[in-house]
Amino acid sequence: MGLFEGKKGLVFGIANDHSIAWAITEKLYDEGAEMAFTHLPDKDPERPRMERRLRKLVEPRGAKLMIPCDVTKEEDLDKVFETVKAEYGEIDFLLHSIAYAPMDDLKGPVYNVSRDGFKLSMEISVYSLITIARRAREILKPGGSMLTLSYLGGEKVIPGYNVMGICKSALENTVMYLANELGPEGIRVNSLSAGPLKTLSSSAVGEFDVMMKLYSTMSPLRKNITPDDVGKAGMYLLSDLSSGVSGENHHVDSGYHIMGAPPIELQQM
Ligand code: NAD
Repeated sequence: MGLFEGKKGLVFGIANDHSIAWAITEKLYDEGAEMAFTHLPDKDPERPRMERRLRKLVEPRGAKLMIPCDVTKEEDLDKVFETVKAEYGEIDFLLHSIAYAPMDDLKGPVYNVSRDGFKLSMEISVYSLITIARRAREILKPGGSMLTLSYLGGEKVIPGYNVMGICKSALENTVMYLANELGPEGIRVNSLSAGPLKTLSSSAVGEFDVMMKLYSTMSPLRKNITPDDVGKAGMYLLSDLSSGVSGENHHVDSGYHIMGAPPIELQQM
């Protein structure tokens, strides 16, 4: 019997088969979970690209609920939670795997980030977790788990990550406050800080290939992480296996974050 047999969840953030949310979802399906999904609303109803991409992935696994949602729109979020409540009643877990910054603001330097670009980046990448948590606590069962995705650029300066680093810092702090507030209700809140993976979002981050090279040479494991690595860890954090873990920022990055200097073999070159 799978770890998620009889469990239901809500997943935000599958854009395509490279999405981190999909890597985690695949593991959840393997363990028997049933899930509802959101996708960005399609601008042209004649060509529903977002919905179609999601449907192609999750329908063969038995998914029935695919709900359009732009997290900047409270009415979209209301609809998502109304639909999930009507269909499932309560849920066991929620995955938030969403981030965005306008390209002009993301490319830096940080001192040039526009007021509007900053607000939008924070709204989509951080405030969305808060507004989702407010609704989720109404339907998450005691023992439920919420998970979001972060990156080391929220703790240290990663050149090229720029305003998204500021967002991730705020996101990780938000996780701690939410964990404290929702803990008495039996709900856990954690973040998973993933190493670089090639996805739609990461293609917008400057110096991304340099980061991949650095992780493969400087991390303790001397390799980049895979979608499978992040999928397994995400599944653990959403499952009862992590029942004593809350407010944590769990690194899945081949250990890169512990290094204060390059490995000795690189220092001797
Ligand atoms: P992705 O592009 O596949 O996923 C980003 C998701 O955010 C997409 O599904 C997109 O539709 C959604 N999104 C953006 N704006 C939205 C809005 N207004 N309303 C609703 N949804 C919106 O890329 P990904 O790399 O899988 O990113 C998922 C998360 O993982 C992000 O938080 C990202 O910062 C984080 N992360 C990524 C990496 C990496 O290297 N890829 C590393 C660490 C953390």
